[in-house]
Amino acid sequence: MTCDLTNPIFTNEAAAVAHLEASRWNQGVICPLCGSDKAKKMGGATQAGMFLCADCRGKFTVRTGTVFERSHIPLHKWLLATHLMASSKKGISAHQLHRMLGITYKSAWFMAHRIREAMAPAAGGTVGGGGRIVEVDETEIAPSRKSKTPLGGRKRANNKKFVSLVERDGKVRSAVIDGRNMNDVRTAVRMNLDPDSVLHSDGAQFYKGFMPIGKHESVDHDKMFAKRASGNKASIHCNTAEGYFSIVKRGIVGTFHHVSPAHLPRYLNEFDFRMNTRTKLGFNDITRAAAILKGAEGQRLTYRQVG
Ligand SMILES: [Zn+2]
Repeated sequence: MTCDLTNPIFTNEAAAVAHLEASRWNQGVICPLCGSDKAKKMGGATQAGMFLCADCRGKFTVRTGTVFERSHIPLHKWLLATHLMASSKKGISAHQLHRMLGITYKSAWFMAHRIREAMAPAAGGTVGGGGRIVEVDETEIAPSRKSKTPLGGRKRANNKKFVSLVERDGKVRSAVIDGRNMNDVRTAVRMNLDPDSVLHSDGAQFYKGFMPIGKHESVDHDKMFAKRASGNKASIHCNTAEGYFSIVKRGIVGTFHHVSPAHLPRYLNEFDFRMNTRTKLGFNDITRAAAILKGAEGQRLTYRQVG
């Protein structure tokens, strides 16, 4: 299922506002300032899109408290950027957004990062659970020769590392780690893994000794890459995680070219999100874009004004 780019929500501001209002407040308008459900749309052309809360007397719009807040870019362009990012299999560069949306490169860059914030997993969520197998592995980002920032670079010490937890045929969660500290890997696993999972890893020391007995299987990559488990258990390997790493690396090299270390977590949000909303898991371009709009609310705002 694809989405028609001539849809008025991508070209008409009133249609875009109505679309986001319906998506955000499908159970009725909730004041983002105090949580009250006693807010009413204000009349008058100068207050188009403005709501007044009967409890806190605050005024707000559908953008308030979302990643679209405090931006001069029309909402229909935000929705188009969201749709483009949701439907591009390999991601879309800020240069391409800049050309397609008719906005400055700098604005496109900020928009893309805010949309990546909306792709972030819900706080406190985990992968695994129900006894599922979750593969864990860590990697570092390959060098980018064009990049002025030394992500990858030719000095390995500057490389940025991240760890991914990958359910077989399921979801993925990645986290940037400090490559010099093994505890970082353990912390990332503890924070992101449902304890009712079976962890599959390589033979690295930092995966040993912190999962409950019977909840961890490892394969020593110096000897072999997969081993068949006894009985009817699934074989032990990290091939799914390895496959995911090549998707991320190809995407970063092929689409984004320059990824500064400071922004790597947001790019990982994007790759994880795309994986977690892939067609095989029942999503299409429309439901994927809708999931981003749902995530646009309540993400922490860490950017200066856009546009
Ligand atoms: Zn209120």
